[in-house]
Amino acid sequence: MTIEAPSRYQKLPREQPNISCEHASVLSRDPAQGYGMEEVDLLIVGGGVVGLACARATAGAGRTVCLLERHPRFGTETSTHNSGVIHAGIYYPAGSLKGRLCVEGRDALYRFCATHDVPHSRCGKLIVAGPGDDATALEQLLARGRANGVDDLEIVERDFVQRLEPHVAARAALWSPSTGIVETEALVRTLRREAAGRGVIMLPTMPLVGGDAHAEWLHVRTPSESIRARTVVNAAGLHADEVSAMLDGRPFRIHPCRGEYAELVGASRELVNIKRPVYPLPAPSGEHLGVHVTPTTWGSVMVGPTARYQDAKDDHEGDRLPVDAFVEPTRVLLPSVRPGDLRLGGTGMRPKLSPDANAFSDFLIERDPQQPRLIQAAGIDSPGLTACLAIGRRVSELVDEVLS
Ligand SMILES: Cc1cc2nc3c(=O)[nH]c(=O)nc-3n(C[C@H](O)[C@H](O)[C@H](O)COP(=O)(O)OP(=O)(O)OC[C@H]3O[C@@H](n4cnc5c(N)ncnc54)[C@H](O)[C@@H]3O)c2cc1C
Repeated sequence: MTIEAPSRYQKLPREQPNISCEHASVLSRDPAQGYGMEEVDLLIVGGGVVGLACARATAGAGRTVCLLERHPRFGTETSTHNSGVIHAGIYYPAGSLKGRLCVEGRDALYRFCATHDVPHSRCGKLIVAGPGDDATALEQLLARGRANGVDDLEIVERDFVQRLEPHVAARAALWSPSTGIVETEALVRTLRREAAGRGVIMLPTMPLVGGDAHAEWLHVRTPSESIRARTVVNAAGLHADEVSAMLDGRPFRIHPCRGEYAELVGASRELVNIKRPVYPLPAPSGEHLGVHVTPTTWGSVMVGPTARYQDAKDDHEGDRLPVDAFVEPTRVLLPSVRPGDLRLGGTGMRPKLSPDANAFSDFLIERDPQQPRLIQAAGIDSPGLTACLAIGRRVSELVDEVLS
């Protein structure tokens, strides 16, 4: 796959483009409206995993569903710039959307990957406590996970950790067998193909640039089309706040929070040979999971992400942390790692609803209180990759409500 961003922004396997061959001309035209006015039941803004999963879940039933993506390819923003971990659902406050949709989405994602041959591995994960860590932290995490319905967690001793991951330092760990990893680019491609196969009209290189609200419709504008939609789903990731404002939806702000990665290189991969994600204890809010070590399905090992709020949504590379900044956080988990074992990796941008790194903010998935024809799927930071199919299902219920 060719890339459109700086090389470090896209440290991923390159495969064939996921460009859709569908075009706006397949939309039905309303003669009364004249040329250029298209009409659809549902318009989805954003072709990341969330928008694509919403498209797949809402298509069919005689509806016209259309998906706008501003880039030529789908999923090139946050959906393919993350750790690729299928989370079990441990970290989030009980009853939160993140907690519920992560557990539901995880199971759905494993089924989806198995059915559609998306490379993935249910490899399990260790959250490790070192000598200096609070002895009760693992129990608290275990209790939190169980409250979310993650019922296979276990606190394990050093010997268990050593057998699984001989190079990992731990006094004890939380073992999560239902955590896994997935190849995000393959997931995007498969979701796109599935959605297109169900009749969704895919419009790449088609940004939403404006809109007007009417009683029965939302009129949305792209540089080349005017589309009349009975419902709109806002799945615009980092730009969901701008899309909401364009459609007179509720005001909110997306705060970009950059995560940077390093990678283990060459000989060090032989040394560590990590088989599963290894995490430190998270921040108490559960919002930042800490710099972790994660193998990918294609055989590399990522270290990160860091967390840093910034103003620009599209600055992925400016003022990067030096590779040395990753050495100490990596040594917390893998004490034998040396500076020469690491090189800089990619980056990803979290679309945060809160500017406070220590505050928990949930997904915003709702029928907009100001604009009832608009459905928000915003603030979808981690575990949004894991939860995407569950988010699609929930959004499809809201779409049914609007269209009924
Ligand atoms: C560093 C990092 C690590 C993460 N790790 C994990 C993990 O291990 N596991 C996990 O479950 N989650 C993880 N996540 C979270 C996960 O990546 C996201 O929750 C998920 O990708 C969100 O998908 P999305 O479709 O909402 O967003 P995006 O992929 O950003 O898609 C939004 C799309 O909307 C398009 N768009 C924006 N504005 C417009 C417009 N006006 N018109 C048309 N299109 C528009 C964009 O071009 C983009 O393609 C991580 C995130 C980060 C940043």
